[in-house]
Amino acid sequence: MITKQKGTYDIYGVEAKKRAYVNDVLNRLCEKYNYGYIETPVFEASELFHRGVGESTDMVKKETYDFKDRGDRDITLRPEGTAGVVRWFIENKLYGSMSEAVKVYYNMKMYRYERPQSGRNREFTQWGFECFGSDDVIADAEVISLAYNAYRLIGLDDVTIELNTLGDQESRDNYRKALVEYFTPVIGELCEDCQDRLERNPLRILDCKVDADNPILKNAPKTIDYLNKESLDRFNKLKELLDLMDIKYEVNTNLVRGLDYYNHTVFEVVLNGSYALGGGGRYNGLVETLGGPSIPAVGFAMGYDRTILAMEENNVNIPINDSVDVTLLYVSDTEKETAAYLAQELRLNSFITEVDLLGKSLKAQFKSVDRWNSKYLIVLNDEDLAKNEVVLKDNVTKDENRIKMNEIVEYLDTHM
Ligand code: AMP
Repeated sequence: MITKQKGTYDIYGVEAKKRAYVNDVLNRLCEKYNYGYIETPVFEASELFHRGVGESTDMVKKETYDFKDRGDRDITLRPEGTAGVVRWFIENKLYGSMSEAVKVYYNMKMYRYERPQSGRNREFTQWGFECFGSDDVIADAEVISLAYNAYRLIGLDDVTIELNTLGDQESRDNYRKALVEYFTPVIGELCEDCQDRLERNPLRILDCKVDADNPILKNAPKTIDYLNKESLDRFNKLKELLDLMDIKYEVNTNLVRGLDYYNHTVFEVVLNGSYALGGGGRYNGLVETLGGPSIPAVGFAMGYDRTILAMEENNVNIPINDSVDVTLLYVSDTEKETAAYLAQELRLNSFITEVDLLGKSLKAQFKSVDRWNSKYLIVLNDEDLAKNEVVLKDNVTKDENRIKMNEIVEYLDTHM
């Protein structure tokens, strides 16, 4: 038997319905913010993700699915959404006529070769959005508010935004210097990867999963102490806006986020003080890094699978339909054509309609009515059909009504 790959899963049944509901809520919210939907290809040139995410990140060093295609091209499966969206933005020269910010959202599968565990898979979905063209904190606030409202609308009311700033280039450089000075004498006590990170990007030591609880990390210098005035003013302005918008946030000066491209705002959405459900921030340098002009941008990505899991763990009521409106039963083969015709008619009039496809006996068809949780049933028989009539039965009250064929839709419309 061929089984699914480690870290992948099939989505079906109730799980699929839950996702459809969440998608619907999120899509409608994005429309309120006037973000347009985008999908980028599942595979792109390796260089895009390697350069975009950063050659020395754990994601690129250990997690990307890289392969040669049959034309000997270096290909990578999409590990995150931002790099592909930036490639689209540059390739279509959308920076040329930026009379407005360019705002898009996505809901896409991602691929990372990670050790699978609860909420962490090799194929997973991220819902995210990006806003290009504004360096104003009002754009940061808009993106944070979209993320915040998304969680609240799907019923995760207890989310908090953990917020930090990395500052501008000068602030980041000063901070980097302070980290190197701090970590150099104690680097031997940290994991091998951290020793490597000290040279390449010491900020990433703070993100280390292995040393996460090490006091050396906890007592490390804080970004906030190395901000220049402009960066600090900007951070204060953002906090003012979030206060005004009534968005619950906490400053977490340890939050740096591992990717190369962030500057100024970084944030994560955390549930009940622990679980990171998503993260984002400002990435003013990325468009240029990937070959475009210098265009500021800010974005966010939700860990979709973890979010669904968190909804389940927190007993969020997800309204899904698990019932059928009408089941059509037929006594014998002679009523089958009418069943097919009537099913078509009812479905086109928006009623969820079921009809037996397996040639079951009438008795077995009755059992299906309950299994489908059907609200109404109609038993088609030649005698009634000859008079152009059916008996429509309410499966809950067991009331029966004899009605004309051409009145079924009207009857259901007024009774459901
Ligand atoms: P990142 O792109 O690493 O900043 O991740 C953003 C969000 O995606 C995280 O907060 C997680 O919720 C989610 N995420 C990241 N990696 C995985 C994974 N392997 N499986 C499921 N969700 C993930």
